[in-house]
Amino acid sequence: MDLPRSAEVVVVGGGINGTSIAFHLARRGLRVTLMEKDFIAAGPSGRSSGIIRQHYSNEVTARMALHSLRVWQHFDQVVGGDAGFKQTGFLVCVREEHLEGLKANIALQQSQGINTHLVWADELKGLEPHISGAGLVAAAYEPESGYADPASAATCFANAAKRLGATILVGTKVVSIQTAGEKVTGVVTNRGPVAAGSVVVAAGPWSPLLARTVGIDLPITASRHQVCLYRWPASFRGHMINADFVGGIYLRPEAGRQMLVGSVEPEEAEARVDDPDHFNQTVDFDTVTRFAERVAHRYPDMQQGTSAGGYAALYDIAPDWHPIIDEVPGLAGLYVCAGGSGHCFKLSPAIGEMVAQLVVEGKKPGDDVNLFSFDRFAQGQPVRGKYEYSILG
Ligand SMILES: Cc1cc2nc3c(=O)[nH]c(=O)nc-3n(C[C@H](O)[C@H](O)[C@H](O)COP(=O)(O)OP(=O)(O)OC[C@H]3O[C@@H](n4cnc5c(N)ncnc54)[C@H](O)[C@@H]3O)c2cc1C
Repeated sequence: MDLPRSAEVVVVGGGINGTSIAFHLARRGLRVTLMEKDFIAAGPSGRSSGIIRQHYSNEVTARMALHSLRVWQHFDQVVGGDAGFKQTGFLVCVREEHLEGLKANIALQQSQGINTHLVWADELKGLEPHISGAGLVAAAYEPESGYADPASAATCFANAAKRLGATILVGTKVVSIQTAGEKVTGVVTNRGPVAAGSVVVAAGPWSPLLARTVGIDLPITASRHQVCLYRWPASFRGHMINADFVGGIYLRPEAGRQMLVGSVEPEEAEARVDDPDHFNQTVDFDTVTRFAERVAHRYPDMQQGTSAGGYAALYDIAPDWHPIIDEVPGLAGLYVCAGGSGHCFKLSPAIGEMVAQLVVEGKKPGDDVNLFSFDRFAQGQPVRGKYEYSILG
């Protein structure tokens, strides 16, 4: 497709958030051009575990999760197409020391209308026949949660944006952002310049590189996150999604009678990657065996399962494990939506709407988006949950 000379808004990045933003901007009638250097969902979105849960420890993110869940449940009507949402149910398993926190979080989520409740360890077998309650005191149970197919979801958002008049350019890399004085004027791409009144940087772990072209230092780092797959043994009848904070793993069912497993430990951030275009995309042998031991501890029948390999992809992490969603102070028209910190697939419907509102209407006191401000680290006001265990936010 030809490169347009100008756009009202350029969105950089064809991941789940860039495509959701383009859809929501186009829905508000703006002339949007989305630019993706490779193909839709080529980056971390395409390898996301796609888990859609509601368990958050502050009201804003819990509200965003619930709002987004309703979109995932009715995706064909709201956006169009099949995002592959599967309702499986979701457990958050904790040990004794986190019981009061778990109860507080459940109460917070219920106050926002989320369908969740506490299940004691000895009641779990009734819900999840293969589980062992070893080391657990209780779990939060969300019957409505599940997972979706991130590549399909991003493609659906991009197609829906296109139907509303947006231009979607793949194979188009933004090389730099252009400014005049304290205002954005457009971008330069590998195919030429495009003038724009607003530019939204939704480039995941590449966002700091792009921000640097206008002298902005984004406090976002990239880290390698490993995902392992294990085949169920013949006798295994399945399982729901589980964030097991005792074992330090999350897991969900995967097509082909498999269990998909990743880590919920904050040490993830230590596997830092300096160049998002060059990193080890395979899994380490010791991770395959470590996760397998933890899986077998929680689901003893999986001892007869077999490894089906795995892969690695990048988290773009902000210092408080929450995204930056804001107009950059001092550079009118430049917006950042990055630093998803391993949990912003599920929130992408809410994020797209928030960014569209930010671009069209600006910020007002009391808006949820204020939580994710660019300045919060400099001002010593990082996002904090009421009760956080590990990296769940
Ligand atoms: C292994 C893994 C598991 C995860 N599991 C979950 C989960 O279960 N649930 C959940 O909610 N979240 C999960 N996440 C987090 C979630 O997937 C991410 O927060 C989300 O996908 C980020 O999407 P994005 O659109 O912001 O960025 P990205 O997916 O990083 O997309 C950015 C895009 O920008 C493009 N780009 C970069 N630079 C340029 C440029 N200069 N010009 C043009 N294009 C450019 C890239 O090619 C890329 O396609 C997981 C992440 C990983 C890595």
